[in-house]
Amino acid sequence: MANHLIMNFNTRELADHQSDFIVLGSGIAGFFAALLAARLGAAVTVMTKQSIQDSNTDKAQGGIAAAMDAADSPDLHYRDTLLAGAGLCDREAVRILVHEGPRRVLQLMDMGARFDFEGGRLALTREGAHSCRRIMHACGDATGAEIQRVLNEQALAEKNIEVLERHFAVDLLVRDNTCHGVLAYDQRGGCLKAFRSRAVILSTGGLGQLYEHSTNPDVATGDGIAMAYRAGAEVMDMEFIQFHPTVLNLPGAPRFLISEAVRGEGAILRNRSGERFMLNYHEMAELAPRDVVVRAILAEMRRHAGSNVYLDLRHLDDELVLRRFPNIHRTCLKHGLDITRDTIPVAPAAHYIMGGVKTNYFGETNIDRLYACGEVACQGVHGANRLASNSLLDGLVFGGRIAERTAGLWREEMPPRTEFASELPSPGDNVDYARISGELRRMMSAHAGPLRCREGLEAALGYMDDLAHLESTAARNIQGAELRNRLLTSRLVAETALMRTESRGGHFRDDYPRTRNSWLKHIILRK
Ligand SMILES: Cc1cc2nc3c(=O)[nH]c(=O)nc-3n(C[C@H](O)[C@H](O)[C@H](O)COP(=O)(O)OP(=O)(O)OC[C@H]3O[C@@H](n4cnc5c(N)ncnc54)[C@H](O)[C@@H]3O)c2cc1C
Repeated sequence: MANHLIMNFNTRELADHQSDFIVLGSGIAGFFAALLAARLGAAVTVMTKQSIQDSNTDKAQGGIAAAMDAADSPDLHYRDTLLAGAGLCDREAVRILVHEGPRRVLQLMDMGARFDFEGGRLALTREGAHSCRRIMHACGDATGAEIQRVLNEQALAEKNIEVLERHFAVDLLVRDNTCHGVLAYDQRGGCLKAFRSRAVILSTGGLGQLYEHSTNPDVATGDGIAMAYRAGAEVMDMEFIQFHPTVLNLPGAPRFLISEAVRGEGAILRNRSGERFMLNYHEMAELAPRDVVVRAILAEMRRHAGSNVYLDLRHLDDELVLRRFPNIHRTCLKHGLDITRDTIPVAPAAHYIMGGVKTNYFGETNIDRLYACGEVACQGVHGANRLASNSLLDGLVFGGRIAERTAGLWREEMPPRTEFASELPSPGDNVDYARISGELRRMMSAHAGPLRCREGLEAALGYMDDLAHLESTAARNIQGAELRNRLLTSRLVAETALMRTESRGGHFRDDYPRTRNSWLKHIILRK
């Protein structure tokens, strides 16, 4: 028996699936690592919770940052990344990101990614806290969809890759600090399956859905962080959550992101009285770091007793707006807003986690044969605050590194079959997973969001303590497993936010508003 498992099963009763590598997640990090590993000869199984289209990657708009222009350099990109990271970036990780980034972007272009060009040169835009135009984009504002399209096509055509959609990874099969494979629930077949492998690559993305309002799709419930932590992996920087300042806030409309690139092209933020306010908060105005813009917006919302501020593009050239932001234009129009004529009501929403499963520069975790890359992982490249458009690049660079690090591993003998079983008591039939998830999300938004304080965080943790009994019972189904993951990752965020008695980057404490040198360190947790 292993005590980290949340569903009842016995591998002796399950069919034995084998693969050299199991990759959990089909976003940029997972698919890129899978493709490179497959091309180096490994047989790879990629498992994904819903369809291959359901990922944060697919939703990315603004673009991907890399020093590709003669006027730019990796050193400038390095400097901007460190500044945004508010003292907590791992310098070596950043150095790797900015120096290896351009090569990985070219690899992605070789696979078929079509970025926008202008006058025969890559079209580059600017985003918050970048000191120059360095963001490549595709189809105007649909960069992620273009990247996901290419990766999907390549992965589906690759003979060494098996793609399993609607396979929900429930737990990592870990014994004696070694990862032997994965327990997954096949939603089409309606059954649990055990997968054995030489290595597991965790690339399950982020946890925006822990909050009531998020830019992330439904799949982003922190599953990877939760299953790794349960199995004994270290997690780092969990208190640092990035909230995106400008997310569509219209009754009845989805929380659709209005990319930072819109402000990069000159859009202005106005309060309910129509005044431009960002100049009162930061010298970079609308292009200040995201956490600064988020707090400025929240302050203006409080001052005007409103639930949003406005993003104004009306002074920009119509042709530029339509060419650069066709997706945003189309989506807003569906909800009755013409962004060339109307201001856009926006408010902050949960967007990205800087922390995650701790890895070294090769994606290795503290568990043997378990690797992690992309948003689920944390090697310190984003510090306390991610520089805009650095996360797609992070997925490419560190996903690519895992594939190269593990080259040849598949030639070694497959480890012998190890059996796993779990037998937990049932939670009973009357646990309402949907209601509890909703309450938890509201709790997290109220107390562990962009503004935090001791009383609020303690209240959130108290609510989680009241649900502790769920942690010693079996999850009945996927909703139950997701709730367990939400509860655990919410607790990791709230606990670390309570520990860090200062404000820095994406973590702001009303009761400790200053940054303190004594906190120039990471919080690392392990079960
Ligand atoms: C609206 C939006 C706009 C953004 N814009 C930008 C941008 O312009 N530039 C930029 O650099 N970044 C941007 N980001 C952030 C960036 O998109 C993500 O950080 C990045 O795509 C993460 O890639 P990933 O491969 O780590 O995870 P994802 O792309 O989120 O993929 C995770 C995968 O894991 C799967 N998964 C999750 N749990 C399980 C489970 N239990 N079992 C099996 N599979 C599972 C998911 O289904 C998914 O396939 C944006 C994010 C959002 C939401």
